[in-house]
Amino acid sequence: MPKIIPVPDELSQPFWDAVNERRLIVQNCIGCDRLQYPPGVDCRVCESATGVEWKEVEGKGHIAAYIVIEDGRLNRRMPDQPYNLALVTLDEDPTVNFYSNLPGTPPYEVPVGAAVEVTFEEVAPGQLIHEWKVVE
Ligand SMILES: [Zn+2]
Repeated sequence: MPKIIPVPDELSQPFWDAVNERRLIVQNCIGCDRLQYPPGVDCRVCESATGVEWKEVEGKGHIAAYIVIEDGRLNRRMPDQPYNLALVTLDEDPTVNFYSNLPGTPPYEVPVGAAVEVTFEEVAPGQLIHEWKVVE
């Protein structure tokens, strides 16, 4: 399944470097001790002047909701339609969300509420992305 190839910028470079090492990291606010993803320059909740740091997380979550993309506009993804797009909440902080195509789960058959764990897929030579898989 062709996926979008990430283009890291200054802010997201540490995240993608970790993904390439098969590790999942998110930002942690030094001021209010909340996890944050996607990365931001500051904490989106308290905008603490003390800033944010990167923290490795376990990579376990749950499926909160999903839709099936039948008529998406991303050319690279059109051959795969229909495909799942699930909203995954991180167990360490369910306010932190990720999106996933849930590799291995057929379209329309997403078990909402099920546990998932992070997995990694190579989308270009040397470039991995994070995905989520239902835990059997
Ligand atoms: Zn904060």
